[in-house]
Amino acid sequence: MTRFKWFRTLTAVALFLSLAFSCQGAEAFHFPSVEFLRLSPDAELSPAEASASGDWQPLANSSANFGYTRDTIWFRFDVPVNRQINLLEIGYAHLDHVAFYLMENGQVIEATVTGDHHPFKERPILNRHFLFPFSADTSTDRQVLLEVRTTGTLQVPLALWNAQSFFEHASVEEQLHAIYYGVLISVIFFNLFVFFALRENVYLFYVLSTLSYLLLISSLNGTAFQLLWPRSPELHSWVTLLSIPFAVMFTLLFSRSFLQLEHSGPALNRVVIGFIAANALLIAASGLLDFGTSIRLSVAVAIPSTLLLTIMGPLQWIRGNPQAGYYTIAWCALSVGSAITGANKAGFMPNNFITAYGMEIGSALQAVLLALALAARLYQERQGKVEARDAELKAMAARRSAELKLIENALHNSLTGLPNRTNFEMQVNDLIRRTPNTRHGIVIIHLNNLQSVTKTLGHRNSDLISEVTAKNANAIARQIPGVISLGQHNGRSFYTASLDLETLVCIVDADTTEQARRAVVRALEAIRAPVDFLGMKIPLNAQIGIAVSPVDGTDASTLIRRASIAEGSDRARERGIAYYRPSLDSYSASRLTMVSELQKALVNNELALHLQPKLNLRTGRICGMEALIRWPAREQPVPADEIITLAEQTGLIKPLTRWVLEQSLELRSRLLENGHLLDLSVNISPNNLREPDFPMFVKRLMGAHLEHRGSIIFEVTETSMMQDPANALKALNSLASAGIPVSIDDFGSGYSSLSYIKQLPASEIKIDRSLITDLATREEDRVIVQTTINMCHSLGYLVVAEGVEEEATADLLKGMGCDMIQGYFLSRPLPLERMLGWLSQRREAVTRKHSPG
Ligand code: C2E
Ligand code: CA
Ligand code: CA
Repeated sequence: MTRFKWFRTLTAVALFLSLAFSCQGAEAFHFPSVEFLRLSPDAELSPAEASASGDWQPLANSSANFGYTRDTIWFRFDVPVNRQINLLEIGYAHLDHVAFYLMENGQVIEATVTGDHHPFKERPILNRHFLFPFSADTSTDRQVLLEVRTTGTLQVPLALWNAQSFFEHASVEEQLHAIYYGVLISVIFFNLFVFFALRENVYLFYVLSTLSYLLLISSLNGTAFQLLWPRSPELHSWVTLLSIPFAVMFTLLFSRSFLQLEHSGPALNRVVIGFIAANALLIAASGLLDFGTSIRLSVAVAIPSTLLLTIMGPLQWIRGNPQAGYYTIAWCALSVGSAITGANKAGFMPNNFITAYGMEIGSALQAVLLALALAARLYQERQGKVEARDAELKAMAARRSAELKLIENALHNSLTGLPNRTNFEMQVNDLIRRTPNTRHGIVIIHLNNLQSVTKTLGHRNSDLISEVTAKNANAIARQIPGVISLGQHNGRSFYTASLDLETLVCIVDADTTEQARRAVVRALEAIRAPVDFLGMKIPLNAQIGIAVSPVDGTDASTLIRRASIAEGSDRARERGIAYYRPSLDSYSASRLTMVSELQKALVNNELALHLQPKLNLRTGRICGMEALIRWPAREQPVPADEIITLAEQTGLIKPLTRWVLEQSLELRSRLLENGHLLDLSVNISPNNLREPDFPMFVKRLMGAHLEHRGSIIFEVTETSMMQDPANALKALNSLASAGIPVSIDDFGSGYSSLSYIKQLPASEIKIDRSLITDLATREEDRVIVQTTINMCHSLGYLVVAEGVEEEATADLLKGMGCDMIQGYFLSRPLPLERMLGWLSQRREAVTRKHSPG
């Protein structure tokens, strides 16, 4: 852009310089001595009378300048005796009245009256200057008399020419002027175009200023009169008069707006406005004042205005106004040009093209430079706008990303980086709204040990541990089939949210997840495994609670609350994990009614024990039964573990277990009566182990029924004993010493501590259903089960596999050396009568199989 601009400037300069030397040497003839006679305005003399006056004075040079005067000035000189000279030029276009007399021997032989108060066509030669042709006569003395009067400055620059060489010279000059006007007109049109496109006043002011200047110059040198209004001499005077204040006013307006003085120089701005007003006033007053006064006033105002225009640029440049550079250079061009012309006119400089046309060159340069500056300004402004828009876009983007960050922060836990409660609730509610018929499991993982970790290792470490645990839990949750993504943030994918530092939560598609029990159990094991931290293994004692929509609730906060209730239940404490049951929820109304109903059921003997058979794989015989509690009288069936939880929470577990024990003795008696010598397993709650009189009760009961001694097996879960390991161990030992076999239930469902189990007086281990269900399909499970069986055998335990549903599983387990199986493959838990039926049916089948034929 800049390079292009300077290229144009250089072209313009080169154009003028190339013309500079082609038109030299076109000079007027040497002028004979001239005399002048000055008369008062009212003196009316004839040429003869003037000639006869005694007040003639010699003129210092041929370029007479009398300033503002109303006087009539007479000039006279002798016609040179040179035939070549035949034309007189007055090189000034603003003379109201010029009378030309060619005298011969004191007689007027030719007279021409003209002036710019006369229509143009009355001139003897149609030219912007006053031209008077005459002829010399070598035989006689001829004299030229001129009478001049005007209302403006009275200048009479006289020149004598040979007509042909004058017109040759004039034609070159006219061409130069044409170029000059061409430059100004192009500049005007260009900026007018820009003004219409942009509607910015600065371009209009520049157009008007240049137009006025063009008008001023063309009026001053007579071109406007000749070409534009040759029939209207009055218009010519007025245009000349008005073009000065107009040019000054518009230039001031332009400069003010170009330099943006309002902002960059308020004081200067006020001065400029003052001068603009002065010029405007002058224009208005021109109609009232006479021409001479008007013209004097306009020059009086124009001089300081121009001075102001000249110093304005440098002043602003010094103050760092970026526009002022161009402006100053442009004005410099005009000032230097005018100075050169001035110096030339004053005789200080040789007469050549540059000195003669300095002002025109300067003003053309100025026009071009300012036009370029305006274009640059246009570019800069557009650039500025683009940059401003860019900056705005950037700011907007920054704002947006800050907002997003705030939102993200508002939706994520600052420490773990996981989605927080709000975020989780939002997603859960949304999910439930979108898929109301899907069962969604809300899984709460509570790190119960974190508070004691904080007390031991301090907040910093405990924070680090939460962070590590959160990361682990998220990675583990991701592996769970049916887990639902909680979105992404900072390149992380989330499957777990942080309700607080101790509580993590995830959501799963319950149906999918329940299909993959094994994977879930493994995930739970991994979550509950101690965390490696600074070389220590820190048990966080994670406890898990689950609530499932829509049964347990249809909104996030209810589901979270209920999952927390499940998590906080004894059952979760015992087994590490618990589903929500209304019975757990001490605040639910249905639970309250259920408690009283359970109490009544116990008293009224409305509960029942169902039996599920246990098969010895070695002998192929049914070797035992497990007694499982049922509540048949209820309309809405209550799952066994729910009955137990409710009983545990309300203290009903004590009478319930006693009822179960008594009932199981009864059942075993009935089995014996029917010829089935079977062991009977009963489930014992850890609460029972904490009852001080429980061992006593058991011993007394067994003592009263010696036929069952050693055949009633107590099933306890390992995790359930962990709450109070010492007391539980004491109670179990006491029972074992009374001859009661102990079985470890649900082995492998949670984080098992073999070192603890080894201390227990158990004779049997029951491998949890979750490890057995997928045995036929999962290689890994087979490895685990095989290892467990081997390990248990080496410790002297019998091994029972729970939850065997298929023959293939049973065959596998047999191959692995498992001692016993239990599960739907054999039979679902059944009431005694039906179990008796099942047993006899089975006995018949076995007999048939073994009897020949
Ligand atoms: P548990 O002691 O592990 O009992 C086995 C559970 O697995 C029973 O559920 C049984 O019906 C179920 N089951 C057996 N074989 C299969 C199979 O092949 N597939 C599947 N899917 N399930 C099978 P149930 O009867 O609902 O009992 C649940 C839990 O409630 C028991 O788990 C036990 O912890 C507790 N419980 C039941 N009765 C009593 C009781 O009289 N006293 C105490 N303290 N707890 C009891
Ligand atoms: Ca059991
Ligand atoms: Ca079990």
